[in-house]
Amino acid sequence: MHTVIGNWKMQLTITEAAQLAKDIAATLPKRLPDVRVTVCPSYAALASVKEALGVSPVVLGAQDLCHEEKGAYTGEVSGRELADLGVKLVIIGHSERRSHVHEDDTLIRAKVQRALKYKMIPVLCVGETRDERDKGLRDVVVERQVRAALEGLELPARGELIIAYEPIWVIGSGTAVDPEDAARSHYIIRETLRDVFTSETADRRCRVIYGGSVDKDNIAEFLARPVIDGVLVGGASLSASEFTAIVEAARTADAKGAGRG
Ligand code: PEP
Repeated sequence: MHTVIGNWKMQLTITEAAQLAKDIAATLPKRLPDVRVTVCPSYAALASVKEALGVSPVVLGAQDLCHEEKGAYTGEVSGRELADLGVKLVIIGHSERRSHVHEDDTLIRAKVQRALKYKMIPVLCVGETRDERDKGLRDVVVERQVRAALEGLELPARGELIIAYEPIWVIGSGTAVDPEDAARSHYIIRETLRDVFTSETADRRCRVIYGGSVDKDNIAEFLARPVIDGVLVGGASLSASEFTAIVEAARTADAKGAGRG
């Protein structure tokens, strides 16, 4: 079963986010047994989006969380609060947070632990810059980021994890990487996960998805690769018709037998 996650970033007002959620819920079937769909609005819109989704199978996700449990952290939002709001999945270490607010591997690792503590699925984002790729460092960077965030961590019973491979230089560019090229990174990530956990844990409880200029026209090529378990979508998740077409493509791809459960 494939995974489709929409990252709405800071693009919408609360009213717009609720309307988008309503439109997505109204367009998709009432049951989605063959694909896992999540939308991640900004913190401020979480409650309204949850209400707008109603009984839809679309899951509520967040774009970040605080690494600390609670306390004097002005401006932060805790895992406890997100869990309380019904958030089931949380994006961690997105490249925009790594670059704009200088999140480092230590902080990202603490956030992964905090999300797991509250039974939310961490979506750990990793990926290389254009400069790192040009220097031939893609594999090294991606493996280092996965190890730094996860090595030595125990996945709690029934805990799950998603790694999003997002080559930073294609995010928001309108041009995705070649799917075969992305598949190579996914292979590296999966092998690293098998080493960090065990093969059984990595294969049963970890999904590796691709992000970077995915749209309804290119998604099928990514999901045709069995090492690619789904997609993280930015820009194209802001239109209900585009996003639901992406979900439909993921469902069709599932019919071909690809994707991890
Ligand atoms: C993202 O920011 O996670 C992303 C994948 O964005 P886009 O789809 O717009 O490249």
